[in-house]
This record gives sequence, C-alpha cells and structure tokens, in this order.
Amino acid sequence: MISFYPGPSKLREGIGQYLQEAFASDILTYNHRNAEFVTVIADTVAILKDKLAIPEAYEIYFVNSATECWQIISQSLVIAHAVHLYNGAFGQRWMEFAQSLGVNTTGISYAIHSNLPIYEGTAEDLICITNCETSNGTYISGNQLKLLREANPRALIAVDATSCMAGVSLPIALADVWFASVQKCFGLPSGLGIMVCSPAAVARAKALNHRAYYNSMVRLHEKMQATQTNNTPNMLGIYMLGKVMQASANIAEIEKQTILKAEILRYYFRQHLDYQLLIPEDELASSTVIAVKGEEAAIQQLKIEAKKQGFLLGNGYGDWAKNTFRIANFPAHSQEDIKNLISFFKNH
Ligand SMILES: *Cc1c(COP(=O)(O)O)cnc(C)c1O
Repeated sequence: MISFYPGPSKLREGIGQYLQEAFASDILTYNHRNAEFVTVIADTVAILKDKLAIPEAYEIYFVNSATECWQIISQSLVIAHAVHLYNGAFGQRWMEFAQSLGVNTTGISYAIHSNLPIYEGTAEDLICITNCETSNGTYISGNQLKLLREANPRALIAVDATSCMAGVSLPIALADVWFASVQKCFGLPSGLGIMVCSPAAVARAKALNHRAYYNSMVRLHEKMQATQTNNTPNMLGIYMLGKVMQASANIAEIEKQTILKAEILRYYFRQHLDYQLLIPEDELASSTVIAVKGEEAAIQQLKIEAKKQGFLLGNGYGDWAKNTFRIANFPAHSQEDIKNLISFFKNH
C-alpha cells in the first residue's frame, strides 16, 4: 500500500534502517540531558538549518505536534491582539484555540479562490496564517507573504507550514515563527513538532515572559540555550529527523522535484472530464497537497477502488469532506509513485 494521505503518509526511504540504528546505538537509553543526546539535538538542529536554508539567527525548538505549536504561539506571543487570516479548517481551528485561551482575536476569513487579504495592523500584532491549508490544498506564495510583511514590518507573523515545510522552499526570513509536524513532508512517524523562531519572536517571548504552560516559548528558549527540551522529548523522532535530513537533498532541489510531480498531477486532472482540481489557479494551489473535486458517489467509489489497488487517497476535509479527495505529494512520493497513481486513475 502506498499512502497518499496528507499525513501520516508514505515514510521516507531509510526509516526502517534508522529505527534499527537507533535501537542498536543505545541512544534511546540515555537520559535526554546527557551529553550523548544533547549532541543528537545539536546535530539535528544544524542539519535542519543547512538543508532547509533556515537563517542562522533563527532558533529551532522541538515540541510534540503542530497543534501544540498553535497553543504555544497564542499563549506566548500576544501583546494585546492576534489576527488570524484563514480560508479553511486548519486555520480556523488555530483561531478557535486562541479564542479558547482567552486571546483577543480577530478572524479574517477569505475565499479559497482569492489571494491572502493584506491586513495592515500595528507593530504589536501577532498575525497568524496557514501557508498550505491542508484541508483544501491552497497555498500562500512568497509574493503574498512579502506583501503582508511589507504592510506589517514590525508585527510578528506566525506561519503554520505543517504540510509544506521540507517539501518546498519557504521564505523563512519573511516571517517570525514557522512550524510543522514530521508526519507530512518530512516523511517520519508522527509525534514530533518543529518550531522555527526569529530573533524578534524570541525577544517578544522573553519580554512577555508567559510561563503558565510547561512548553511556553520563553521556557523553550531558555532550555535550548543548553540544547535541551523542557520535557523528555520524542528522542527517536529527533534522532530519525536528523538522519532523514542528512540523507535529503537541499530544499531547492527537493522543491524542483515537488513542483515537477505536482505539475504531472495537475496536468492530468485538467484533462479529466469527471474530476476537477479544487484549486485550478496555479498561483493559489499547493504543490504538496492537491485536492480534487467530483461527484460525491464517484469519489466514494474511486477511493474504495484505489485502496483495493494499493493506493490510499486522502479523504476530503471539513467543508470538502464528501466531494473531494486529497493527494499528498511529499518528498517520499517518487515520480514513479505519481505515475503509477495516474495509471490507476486512467483506468477508472
Ligand atoms: C496536520 C496539520 C496540523 C496538525 O498536525 P498535528 O501533528 O496533528 O498537530 C496542523 N496544521 C496543518 C496545516 C496541518 O496540515
């Protein structure tokens, strides 16, 4: 079975071997504050920065999930006001989390066929966006983010990049917090979140000094000074993340492959009479999560047939639960996987 589910999904090559190596090396039996594991964290941070082109001044923290990152950011970085720009279920859920934490929140929803609205706020704002909205396959291009940054040169911008980080090249310097969990483009087993923070984000976390939660950002920052985490982390996940990044091409090369595979898929669905791309506009569509729309009954049947043939398609999500399916186009998916999937579609 090849999983094209947008997370968890097909694992990257080598995961089985890295599991064995972790076991054989005894690393998982050390205390997480011992020098042996501190070295694993330091190496993983260094290789992430190298392969994903993350500016040296940004800090990287390891947490437990992207959902936890929503909470950490909303709890740690709001001065008086958070603004959430969203067009789908994940962005909306983050805003609802912020509201339930008591954050003064403004939600600005926008249509899936529209550009990101360029909100103009104050230097004290926290602006939250979802770079790849996994529920509908929309994407915020670097150009859109640049306009948002130019309209808000001093506000903090936080970006949920869960289903695109490590799959496409991200303009890290244009925002202050980027986060993801590893079961999407990183192609790892779930249970590890990665948060990438600018000096301005760290400075605000320190100034606000919110400590009510065990993983608040100021606590993460303080422990990372000693290359440590607040709680005993997912040591296996961090170890394997380092190995996966070591074996990976740099992000510019990975992005070329991601875009090429996305173009193959998108070209195919443009020709198809029964199915259409949910986001036909190239400049608004994600390359890593592709949503396809059709008749409800046909989609249900297609998913069943696909599974019989060894292809797991992603269900639709939220508003699109019944009349779409989603295809993950992550680095673990080879060009051959994509071509085999298209051969299946051609016969159905
Ligand atoms: C998958 C996903 C999440 C949730 O990730 P968890 O690891 O389950 O917390 C959040 N945001 C986006 C955009 C996602 O795709």
